[in-house]
Amino acid sequence: MVFRISRLKTALSAAGIILATTTVAAFAQTDDKAATPDAAMPEIKYELGKQPLKEHPGGASNEATAKNFPISKGLAGVSMFLKPGGLRELHWHANAAEWAYVVAGHCRITVIDPEGHSEIKDFGPGDVWYFPRGHGHSIQGTGNEECHFILVFDSGYFSEFATFSVSDWLAQTPPDVLSKNFGMPVSAFSNMPKKEVYISQGPVPGPLPLDPAAGTENPPPLTHRFRLGSKIPKVTSGGSFNLVDQKQFPISTTMSGAILKMKPYAMRQLHWHPNADEWQYYIAGKARMTVFGSQGRKITRDFGPGDVGYVPMGYGHYIETIGDSECEMLAVFNSGHYEEISLTEWLAKTPKAVLETNFSVSPNIIDGLRSGEQLFSKPKAPVAIP
Ligand code: MN
Ligand code: MN
Repeated sequence: MVFRISRLKTALSAAGIILATTTVAAFAQTDDKAATPDAAMPEIKYELGKQPLKEHPGGASNEATAKNFPISKGLAGVSMFLKPGGLRELHWHANAAEWAYVVAGHCRITVIDPEGHSEIKDFGPGDVWYFPRGHGHSIQGTGNEECHFILVFDSGYFSEFATFSVSDWLAQTPPDVLSKNFGMPVSAFSNMPKKEVYISQGPVPGPLPLDPAAGTENPPPLTHRFRLGSKIPKVTSGGSFNLVDQKQFPISTTMSGAILKMKPYAMRQLHWHPNADEWQYYIAGKARMTVFGSQGRKITRDFGPGDVGYVPMGYGHYIETIGDSECEMLAVFNSGHYEEISLTEWLAKTPKAVLETNFSVSPNIIDGLRSGEQLFSKPKAPVAIP
């Protein structure tokens, strides 16, 4: 590299151009980045599943936010477990909408919107919910086994000073004010929680009425539940892609998500998302993701169950299944409108002559570049590289 820069200096001075020291430094830095690309890229992996859980009487949770996972400024996530009857108390998020995917077990949500519409709905594995920013909600475990779900927020900073719990607010409000507000005696508030409850343990709620009594509900025009697990995915020989965005789930105007299932030795092909960051949670199997960050920068990490991955908006990436089992991954985006550009599709739609000039390779190689399978590549066992 020193040789290359000194040669460049010689060439430029021969041409009458004096290269400033700072320019040399800039060249040197670019070159160093190419030599150690991983160090030049922000970390894209966070082992959420290995972090200690915050335990509460009715459940437990841990989180990946911009505080502990600095790349994740646009999206953050929580892994939460609720016991049957465990209640994530009434709360709201001041700076983020909440998009969730139920991995296992069952739960029930309640939600209120600014028009006073309320919805109570039951959820099971494969179901998705979306709560617009600031709308009040609660979640309670139902059935007879623990419920596990992944919450994703469209701000990396949703947690600190932005999640508002109703018990915290009441604990901070003087009893005489509460007395005025609710028209009840001051003594009524003496046994209220003195600090934030977060998750409490209660009885398992009974089944919802199949046919609610007339005049008992004020449902919102758009439901907060989408049954992603019941939707037919896009399937190719290498895997399946099951997407829900605003088109199928109209209330989710700021977020979308997908379940990807990749066959052993298959690959989610080279692509990027022009309009959104991607937050990933690996559910099963193992995969290796490489993210390309321009200027010779890239980072590769291996992911397994419980790991979180992050791809900033516009960054190129691909994901290879490793090991011999299928990989299942949840991908969530901070836009209600899902967009991607596939490199294979781009090349297929670009004139051959342009590609020949771009890559300086023979026409038959260009033909191959323009005819590849899209979305997932076919499973192909790795060959040993000498
Ligand atoms: Mn919430
Ligand atoms: Mn992607």
